[in-house]
Amino acid sequence: MADCLFCRIVRREIPAQIVLEDEQALVFKDVSPQAPTHVLVVPKRHLGSLSASTDADASLLGHLQRTAARFAEREGLTSFRLVTNNGRGAGQSVEHLHYHLLGGRAMQWPPG
Ligand code: 5GP
Ligand code: ZN
Repeated sequence: MADCLFCRIVRREIPAQIVLEDEQALVFKDVSPQAPTHVLVVPKRHLGSLSASTDADASLLGHLQRTAARFAEREGLTSFRLVTNNGRGAGQSVEHLHYHLLGGRAMQWPPG
C-alpha cells in the first residue's frame, strides 16, 4: 500500500532498526519502546489488521508467530508478551497488521 507507514518501512522508504527478516516477515524495533525489548513483527504484504485477514492468510499468520518465537529464542527471551491491538478501540494506531513482542521486564495482567 503506497502510503502505509509499515509498507514504507518494508520497502526501506522510511528507516527502521530491522532485527530479523525473511521472505514473508519483517521484525523491527518499536520507535517508542515500552519494554527493554519491544519489536514489531509485521507481514511484508499489507494486511490492515487481524480482522482483515481471511482463512487464506492462516499460513502467514502462523509464520508471524513462529517468527516472533524465533526472535525471542535468538535473544534468549523465555518470557515475553506477543500482542496485537485490533481496531482503534483496542489502541491500534497503524493500520498494517503488527504483533508487539515485549520482553525484558515483568508484565502486568490485565493490560490497560
Ligand atoms: P499500535 O498502536 O498500532 O498497536 O502500534 C503501533 C506501534 O508502532 C506503536 O508502538 C508505535 O510506537 C510504533 N510506531 C509508530 N510509528 C513508527 C515508526 O515510524 N517506526 C517504528 N519503528 N515504529 C513506529
Ligand atoms: Zn501496509
